[in-house]
Amino acid sequence: MFYDLLEPTIDLVDADTGDSLTSAQIATTDPVDAAPCAALSAAQIARSTTRSVLAELGPDAVAGWERDGHLSHDLFRAMGDAGVFRRRWAEGPNEGLPQAIAMLDELAIVSGGASLAVSIHSEVFLTALHLSRRRDHDLVERALDGSVIGCLAATEPTGGSDLSRLRTVAWREGGEWRIRGEKRYITNAATATHGLVVARNRDAGVGRLTLFVVPLDEPGVTIVGGFDKLGTSAAEACHLTFDVSVPASAVVGPIGGGLPFVTRCLWFERIAVSAQLVATMRHGLRLTTAYMRRRHQFESRLIDKQALRHRLVDCWTAFETAQLMLDRTIERMLAGNGRARETVMCKLLCATTATRVHDECIQFLGGRGYTSNYPLERFWRDARLARIGGGTDEVMRELLGSMLDIGDPEMETLLDRLDADDIASIGLDQLQERKDT
Ligand SMILES: Cc1cc2nc3c(=O)[nH]c(=O)nc-3n(C[C@H](O)[C@H](O)[C@H](O)COP(=O)(O)OP(=O)(O)OC[C@H]3O[C@@H](n4cnc5c(N)ncnc54)[C@H](O)[C@@H]3O)c2cc1C
Repeated sequence: MFYDLLEPTIDLVDADTGDSLTSAQIATTDPVDAAPCAALSAAQIARSTTRSVLAELGPDAVAGWERDGHLSHDLFRAMGDAGVFRRRWAEGPNEGLPQAIAMLDELAIVSGGASLAVSIHSEVFLTALHLSRRRDHDLVERALDGSVIGCLAATEPTGGSDLSRLRTVAWREGGEWRIRGEKRYITNAATATHGLVVARNRDAGVGRLTLFVVPLDEPGVTIVGGFDKLGTSAAEACHLTFDVSVPASAVVGPIGGGLPFVTRCLWFERIAVSAQLVATMRHGLRLTTAYMRRRHQFESRLIDKQALRHRLVDCWTAFETAQLMLDRTIERMLAGNGRARETVMCKLLCATTATRVHDECIQFLGGRGYTSNYPLERFWRDARLARIGGGTDEVMRELLGSMLDIGDPEMETLLDRLDADDIASIGLDQLQERKDT
């Protein structure tokens, strides 16, 4: 399996000393020279670099993000300095996905908020800049080195699932664009330097949306406050107001064509979210299984109790199914024939599966599962957002439902015949026809 290839089986070490490489040393390692399969080694390097970055920042820093509900710039700077974003984007949006997934996999285990914020920066903000083929190389360069940090500002009090209800408006004023409105629940806006702001064109019809890159330190941009929330603690969810002018070069993607453009960017976000969910499921299930083999109650191990063992099997099966869906989605993207359908199905499946699997793991661990000594309660809280953010389960189903409403001439012909003919003979008729031809 593609994903299995990304399992953390190696740490990159110095050939002479055998010591683990630092993130700075890894940053200068050429992935093409490092192993025969460039895609695989690049993903392994992304994984090892992320691990090294986290180790160098230290567990206290990571615990601090979760405890304080705030992510420092240091993470982005360190990831940028270590070349993680640059390497991922040197490969292109599709080809760099294995690296993105390896990086997010490592982050999600220690902090779902950190992995969410990094995924929005790398997989939404940088995707938007890349797809719009921006000439503003300085901004892209600084986003790759982690000194510019991006967030996505789409949701508003009046419009979450329904973007046609957005009230933030943009209009031309001289050579500039004026943007006025408010945004709600914007992940990482307190740490980000730039927002990818979705606005309605005031002078165009409903639904004519445009994306703008807005520096968040501009006068006229205000962070009104943050929200206390269930999970993804390290990444603040902020309420912002805008009354700001930006140059024409702030437009990202087609003017008035922002909806399909942002939808395309969300393909990457959905894959990134799915990867984080798969990573925490894998980690949580391995930990829980090891615990159930060790823990004795009523004179046998927990794993010996059929009532638990069967449910554990169901969890592993659900996890493997989600992982296979993710593998397939990525394989199609790598082959250049990714489809919206798979990205939506993948996110829906991973989000619903992860919340169920984490909940079961908490149950198997008993009291330990409910405490923050064990990571399962955090995994569950972090995963719960995936059923709401980036499109709710219901909206994912609506999207998929609309994709089912297309013609299938072969089945329509069969329906015509079933309506007209004797039902009992129809299957046999078909077999006879096939035999004759
Ligand atoms: C922690 C957090 C972080 C977030 N980060 C960001 C971010 O970084 N950027 C950003 O732009 N947004 C962000 N969001 C917003 C998130 O994307 C929205 O909350 C989400 O899209 C749902 O919108 P809503 O909250 O307005 O709910 P609503 O759209 O009001 O939906 C309420 C309920 O109605 C259901 N519903 C709506 N329409 C239908 C329908 N047609 N059929 C059936 N059911 C329907 C929904 O599924 C949901 O269950 C974040 C939210 C949270 C909680």
